[in-house]
Amino acid sequence: MSTATESRSVDVCIIGGGMIGLAVAAELVRRGREVCVLEATVGSADAAARTAAGMLAPVSEADLSHPELTRLSLASAAIYEQWAQDIAARSGLDTGYEATGTLIVALHRDHMAEIEHLRAFQHDRGLAPEPVTRREIRELEPALANAIGGIRVPGDRQIDPRRLLAALRETVTRAGSTVREGVRVTAIHSDGPSNLVEFEEQGATQTMHAQLVVLAAGAWSGQVAASGLALPMRPVKGQALRLRGERLLHHVVRTPDVYLVPRTDGELVVGATMEENGFDRDSRAGDVLDLLVEATRALPGVRELTLMECNIGFRPALRDHLPAIGEARPGLMVATGHFRDGVLLAPITARLLGDLICDGRSDPLLAAFAPGRFQAVEARA
Ligand SMILES: Cc1cc2nc3c(=O)[nH]c(=O)nc-3n(C[C@H](O)[C@H](O)[C@H](O)COP(=O)(O)OP(=O)(O)OC[C@H]3O[C@@H](n4cnc5c(N)ncnc54)[C@H](O)[C@@H]3O)c2cc1C
Repeated sequence: MSTATESRSVDVCIIGGGMIGLAVAAELVRRGREVCVLEATVGSADAAARTAAGMLAPVSEADLSHPELTRLSLASAAIYEQWAQDIAARSGLDTGYEATGTLIVALHRDHMAEIEHLRAFQHDRGLAPEPVTRREIRELEPALANAIGGIRVPGDRQIDPRRLLAALRETVTRAGSTVREGVRVTAIHSDGPSNLVEFEEQGATQTMHAQLVVLAAGAWSGQVAASGLALPMRPVKGQALRLRGERLLHHVVRTPDVYLVPRTDGELVVGATMEENGFDRDSRAGDVLDLLVEATRALPGVRELTLMECNIGFRPALRDHLPAIGEARPGLMVATGHFRDGVLLAPITARLLGDLICDGRSDPLLAAFAPGRFQAVEARA
């Protein structure tokens, strides 16, 4: 295999054109930087974001063990609407942002106990979900025939991650920057004050100089060899279904077993499994069956919809299930490990990384997410 070095040196090279890579790219071009996004597939076909449901749920997803993540999630939710409007305006494309809120519903007594526990935790955190009765649920969502009670989280939102990816890409290219597809980065070498990025394109190994590199390759981030970086990354496989037909719901609906995300165009996303199975790309009949059984229990009308797609995605999970956002070494930034919340966390990740890259300002919100936090542990192992 031949190795060729491109003479052109780029300002910022972003590795990965998924949700986080493109969000960071859109932020940097807004601040006047020139970026080159290198994406391994065509159309970000492998990105977890193409499978993601697009729930923006800092309250429903709030995690007792990670208050620092809840703070970051709430900060992202607070800027989301304006960010989505800005991306839509700059790209000329709709992102499918909707402010409908979430209903978390119980179908039986065990569900009710689980939801009560969640509500008590959210209440302690100052979040305020509202209890809803069987009758109120029936008024809000008549198609939820079997719900016996639950809670309403009016502050949750949703977005269509596929539309958002397209809009982010358009934002970047309209600003004169590049998204280069079919380019798999294999290594980042420190080269004096800059970097030498090594990649494979159409069977040839090539290299490119970059002043600054941002590693945002999702669940594959640990596969890119980079001096000064140790990321204990693993993929957590998720299977989700896309159905289409009459619009049955207006809110995002969750039970403790399944979630249902309706879109205005008649799509309904049903998800999702959480599997420790490496990069296994198969859709399992049993998992599809389980999702459909749980979905029809909550929403019997699902039986009449058309099953359009069974999707697989790989959530990027670091050992502590927290993202890594910040500087790994001079000239190398990291934005990865967003696990279950990368769509929600995209605006705040882009904003805070933009502050760090363009103004040298590190927001205190980032303190818990330093990419170097695994270094000492990895060195001892
Ligand atoms: C079933 C499912 C449902 C989800 N639902 C939600 C949800 O409702 N809300 C939410 O907030 N989050 C959700 N998520 C999580 C969300 O999708 C991820 O957190 C988010 O996509 C992570 O963004 P990322 O850019 O790090 O990774 P990805 O979106 O996976 O993008 C990584 C990109 O890097 C590219 N790449 C990989 N290796 C290389 C390389 N060597 N060189 C160049 N390019 C490379 C890949 O091709 C890919 O396009 C869900 C995930 C799944 C699987």
